[in-house]
Amino acid sequence: MSIDWPLLGICLGGAIAAGLVMYHGVAAYYHLRYYVGRRDDPQSWKIQPTRFLSPKLRRSAVWMGSGNLALGGFVTGLLIYAIAKGHLQTPIFFQVSDYGWIYTIATTLGYFVVVDGLNYYVHRLFHTKFLFRHFHRHHHKFTTTNPYTATALHPVELLAQQTASFLPAFIVPLHAVSIGIVLSYILIFNVIDHSGVRLSSSLPWQGPSTYHDDHHVYFHCNFGQHLMIFDKIHGTLRRKDRRYGAEVFGGKGEPNSEHATTRDEFVEYR
Ligand SMILES: [Zn+2]
Ligand SMILES: [Zn+2]
Repeated sequence: MSIDWPLLGICLGGAIAAGLVMYHGVAAYYHLRYYVGRRDDPQSWKIQPTRFLSPKLRRSAVWMGSGNLALGGFVTGLLIYAIAKGHLQTPIFFQVSDYGWIYTIATTLGYFVVVDGLNYYVHRLFHTKFLFRHFHRHHHKFTTTNPYTATALHPVELLAQQTASFLPAFIVPLHAVSIGIVLSYILIFNVIDHSGVRLSSSLPWQGPSTYHDDHHVYFHCNFGQHLMIFDKIHGTLRRKDRRYGAEVFGGKGEPNSEHATTRDEFVEYR
């Protein structure tokens, strides 16, 4: 099997560059607009106005985040090359006319929901004691978020997320552009959700940035990525009057005896 080096270079370079450009582009926007431009007035925009990452932690986030995107882009580029050369058979299609617009749009939306769900379960799995202490703790050393922390993870976790995100494309026919749109959306909104800036989306399915910021404050709750539905179904959305913390595993907190008379309602994220 001969290797088509120019095509391999384009696939790897394109996939790595796409991830890095989206990550650094969106992160730089929020960094410059808020962390530089409005540094003196954090009360007006920051979810945790009295807490900022130290320069050392921020540099660590940038390097971990960039390294993971290079790794993810490398794997993606290899897959694109293998598919382009016919070494890997997938049901991915390239012409809308193959299945029609209704199928293409419905499967794009379905793919988004399924990937969001799979990533909920992957994330929840990484919140079990063993995986949290060995891998996921690297993401949770950022107890206040910053746009660059979005992909600052242990590489094993990045690969687990990527496997979950690609899996449906090997099972159900999806348009190649649909996959690109959904994966780009996930990356861009992950950066926004980690921005540390108080933001709510005009997209009705998209949780506000406080939803994931609370995950970094309270640890074992709010495992969802974009949709809050999976946390609601499994009762892992943060509840009022429950005690959470790095050592409170399980996703449902512990009863807070100080407020024993109050009902354990979900926190409302808007
Ligand atoms: Zn987590
Ligand atoms: Zn996070």
